[in-house]
Amino acid sequence: MTHYSDFHLQPIAGEWRKGTGGKHLRVTNPFDDSLLLEIPQANRADLDAAYRKAAEVQPQWAALGPSARAAVLHEVVAVFDRRRDEIIDWLIRESGSTRLKAQLEWGAARAIALESASFPARVHGRIVESNVPGKESRVYRSALGVVGVISPWNFPLHLTQRSIAPALALGNAVVIKPASDTPVCGGLLLARIFEEAGLPAGVLSVVVGAGSEIGDAFVEHPVPSLITFTGSTPVGRGIGAIASGGEHLKHVALELGGNSPFVVLEDADLEQAVNAAVFGKFLHQGQICMAINRIIIDERLYSAFAERFVERVKGLKVGDPNLQDTVIGPVINAKQFQGLHEKIELARAEGARPLFEGGSNGNLMAPHVYGEVTVDMDLARNEIFGPLVGLIRARDEAHALELANATEFGLSSAVFSTNLERAVTFARKVRAGMTHVNDIPVNDEANAPFGGEKNSGLGRFNGDWAIDEFTRDHWISVQHTPRHYPF
Ligand code: NAD
Repeated sequence: MTHYSDFHLQPIAGEWRKGTGGKHLRVTNPFDDSLLLEIPQANRADLDAAYRKAAEVQPQWAALGPSARAAVLHEVVAVFDRRRDEIIDWLIRESGSTRLKAQLEWGAARAIALESASFPARVHGRIVESNVPGKESRVYRSALGVVGVISPWNFPLHLTQRSIAPALALGNAVVIKPASDTPVCGGLLLARIFEEAGLPAGVLSVVVGAGSEIGDAFVEHPVPSLITFTGSTPVGRGIGAIASGGEHLKHVALELGGNSPFVVLEDADLEQAVNAAVFGKFLHQGQICMAINRIIIDERLYSAFAERFVERVKGLKVGDPNLQDTVIGPVINAKQFQGLHEKIELARAEGARPLFEGGSNGNLMAPHVYGEVTVDMDLARNEIFGPLVGLIRARDEAHALELANATEFGLSSAVFSTNLERAVTFARKVRAGMTHVNDIPVNDEANAPFGGEKNSGLGRFNGDWAIDEFTRDHWISVQHTPRHYPF
């Protein structure tokens, strides 16, 4: 089995070819800045060809039937297994993933393919009772048609896969626009995998192009009836506005930014809570939408927690993500690094107390921990997306809840207590799509609903929720006997 190659080409409208936009995208390794490849970018004409081909071939793909589509998804799982090392290697090189994170991401992307293989057999229409004599009322459930997928760079393989695997399994065709930092993991690699698994040509296209050139056109195009977007809240808002306010109205699924609170109540198991906080904050350098953004601790445990947490954080190994024992690899690019650096300066200026400030080198940034953070500070108000964190004191449980909800976001969250029902009662009052008791906020399972409240987004992924998201209901009634009309 040879490794996939020719990633300077894109699968557009059934053919691997160069984008015709005239500009080249340089894809680099965030750890050492080495050039991985240059991709001739797609333009609007390429995008249009991809969408039109998708619309043309989608009915045949849907008509293959549930078993044939499920078989392709099962084969995708087999390709994931065969090419495990190759996929993990790309994640490390292109997205700066540590080996551990790359393995976790490979596992999540494989799991959603396996779950999606069951979807074709889980789509059900309905017969509903009618009040009209002689009328039969049917509800047909079918594919939406064509789905446009926009994904970010942090978990590029998984966050693209969690849209395309369900969408394709349910009979849709898909066009992907991957993030510019990760066009291979976020699109081209998956296209090769689905091709090897037997997906017919043209059902899945990838367009690698500048947001300024094809971003709006990707959403405005008349063909797609759903755009799934995973990324930041400001960009997602703009996409939602175009999708719902443009010439062609369409559905949107928006998975946006987060500001996850990690709440430690006074009866928490301290060691467990510290262990969870270290992993839930620093996995993938903190570049996860669900990553711990604020650590809220009952003041009776605050000092003990802070001391133990800092002790653990000091021991985290920062360096080459390819090495087995590296825990913290590079952030994705110099711009992101600069933004984090500005956050550090702001934290100091606002009066947060430095408890630990690691060094930095290139795109590598060691952990930074600040104490006595308050709700009005940048570290508490805004998404960090890096290896920095603030500790916030709570007077009691009620205050901890107030602090947890003091955010415009509502993606994930976590609460620690040895009294499980107390923790569940607390969890139910957190305004978020996901809350985990005695665990990290970073959880994603292929059969559990993933999504946010408030400015963290609209819609849910995974399991039954994905079946709803990627299909449509069509009410068709049949009048079996002549109907008597009032006039
Ligand atoms: P981003 O919003 O900058 O970009 C996301 C994607 O949108 C990229 O592919 C980008 O090329 C594209 N894009 C940018 N402008 C566009 C435009 N005008 N039209 C069309 N496409 C456009 O986000 P990012 O920096 O790649 O990712 C980090 C953000 O994503 C964080 O805020 C994080 O919380 C969020 N995120 C959310 C989830 C979730 O499931 N809720 C998961 C991962 C990341």
